[in-house]
Amino acid sequence: MNKQFSIGVDLGGTNLRVAAYGAEGVLLETISLKTRLADGRHSVVSDLCTALAALLSRHGASRSCVGIGIGSPGPLELPSGIIRNPPNLPGWDGFNLRHAIESTLGLEISIENDANLAALAEQVLGAGKVSGAESLCMLTMGTGVGSGLILNGQIWHGSSGMGGEAGHVIVEPGGEACGCGGHGCLEQYASATAILRMMSSSSRTPASALQVAEWAAEGDKDALAVFQRVGRSLAIALASIVNLLNLPLYVIGGGASDAWDLFAPAMFQELQARSYIYRLTAPSGKQAKECGVVAENKTQICRARLGSDAGLLGACLFGLQNRSQHAVEQKVETN
Ligand SMILES: [Zn+2]
Repeated sequence: MNKQFSIGVDLGGTNLRVAAYGAEGVLLETISLKTRLADGRHSVVSDLCTALAALLSRHGASRSCVGIGIGSPGPLELPSGIIRNPPNLPGWDGFNLRHAIESTLGLEISIENDANLAALAEQVLGAGKVSGAESLCMLTMGTGVGSGLILNGQIWHGSSGMGGEAGHVIVEPGGEACGCGGHGCLEQYASATAILRMMSSSSRTPASALQVAEWAAEGDKDALAVFQRVGRSLAIALASIVNLLNLPLYVIGGGASDAWDLFAPAMFQELQARSYIYRLTAPSGKQAKECGVVAENKTQICRARLGSDAGLLGACLFGLQNRSQHAVEQKVETN
């Protein structure tokens, strides 16, 4: 039995997805469930472990499982695996998710912030694969603005697992109050929630961020102004990140990034004005638009490629990645 696989879990506030992933790079099976938040965190852990055990038993007969990667909404304290005041999992503050899963399952797991795992998947299988970049920063425009940082193929955790939170870079000092306790964070100007809020102050009240995008595409001036602001806010955050890190690739994903054509022109224009490192390294002509291989010494800003599967694939890859680390450690011990 030399074929290997890993299991990845994408634990979201709405959906819980568990997948088996072959080490050769194929998704073997995915189980999709609703996250039963109303029934309490132990019901969610129980559903998660039942799905995990089912995949282990179905695929473990023909392959060996080398790692289990769990993606959780943050903030997440590492390596302990304790969740800290998560905006999308009410009542979970202080919950030791690692311990709850490991004690139910009787197996070791690897746990990581979900946005970091989405960034890892984009680096290995998505925009990073296409561009050849081993380092990138990803921003995810969803209910909030998630973010992950991959440096030389490895997730940058910071010292306690809370690094790479670019969604809370301040773009409007003294601006809108944010769920993190700050004011004027990027999340308040570039998330789907923010798009809805910014439009609601106009004469029409939209049902969703998608509707705001439809109105903008029809030429509604207020809706167009909202996306101008989204682009400008992304640029203010990116200008600081580009100046600070000088990475080859920045990836923008999440549901609201589907409105790319509405906000990207304002974003690129503002970024040119605000970041001297971007001005010095921006690709020109065809290369700027296509997001192919990043030319040497250039900075590419691209749309994400993996869509809503990024977090789940990242969790599977994380399980495999930790497998290789374990193998290295064992080898060192036997020498
Ligand atoms: Zn914030």
